[in-house]
Amino acid sequence: PIALELAGVGLSIGGARILDDVNLSVRRGEMLGVIGPNGAGKTTLFNVISGLLRPTEGTVAVSGNDVGRLAVHRRAAAGLGRTFQTSSLFPQLSVLENVRLAAQAKLGGSLSLLRFPRSGDEATGIAAGCIAEVGLEAKAASAAGGLSHGDKRKVEIAMLLAADPAVILLDEPMAGVGSGDVAGLSEVIRRMHRDSGRTVLMVEHHMEVVLGLVDRVAVMHHGSLLAVDTPEAVMANPLVQSAYLGEPV
Ligand code: ADP
Ligand code: MG
Ligand code: MG
Repeated sequence: PIALELAGVGLSIGGARILDDVNLSVRRGEMLGVIGPNGAGKTTLFNVISGLLRPTEGTVAVSGNDVGRLAVHRRAAAGLGRTFQTSSLFPQLSVLENVRLAAQAKLGGSLSLLRFPRSGDEATGIAAGCIAEVGLEAKAASAAGGLSHGDKRKVEIAMLLAADPAVILLDEPMAGVGSGDVAGLSEVIRRMHRDSGRTVLMVEHHMEVVLGLVDRVAVMHHGSLLAVDTPEAVMANPLVQSAYLGEPV
């Protein structure tokens, strides 16, 4: 079954063509890498999928339902979750408190920052499970702001899992992560995807990470998809190679 389908998606802003005729089908349970030079439109594509931007043309469907005209908070209910290129944690709160807020939002509870999480309540239980899923049990009580970049990304992924999305968008999860933490974070992403039925789209410049994790790669260039194929086929594609001449992948 198809989890995410983009048909003829275009976006013009102030006369600039940011996305042009993007057609993409992603299967349920698939992990798709999205690569392309800086400014190619990768984050904008995620903004359109998650509803921060409305496309000028075309449709975005999750599990066959057109979400192109739903408000952002309705898309979360439709099963979409994302992380951002820059970190979005409450640094003074603990790992458990951060993830608990995400679990509370999913449960529809109040977002009180002042209420200390009571052990045994439902949101705390969900949060603890998500923290275990990213392997941060030992740091649950630590302030999020004091963690390494790699561990902060794991907290953000745990927060995402608390919302239990069917389709997950990760925008440059390795950005700012120290080289010693890349393998560990990569393994967390592999585990949260494997056997879960979750569909993951991941923008990432770190090619070893992309090629090691994904089923297929979509290559963006000047707002268009240049190729969508297996990692091996994409790397051997002469169009892709020439698009990257002089530009870092
Ligand atoms: P990437 O994530 O691939 O580096 P972006 O999606 O951030 O690229 O940006 C793609 C292009 O769209 C860039 O040229 C950027 O300047 C432009 N852009 C992105 N958002 C806006 C906006 N809100 N208004 C005008 N131009 C934008
Ligand atoms: Mg960029
Ligand atoms: Mg970007």
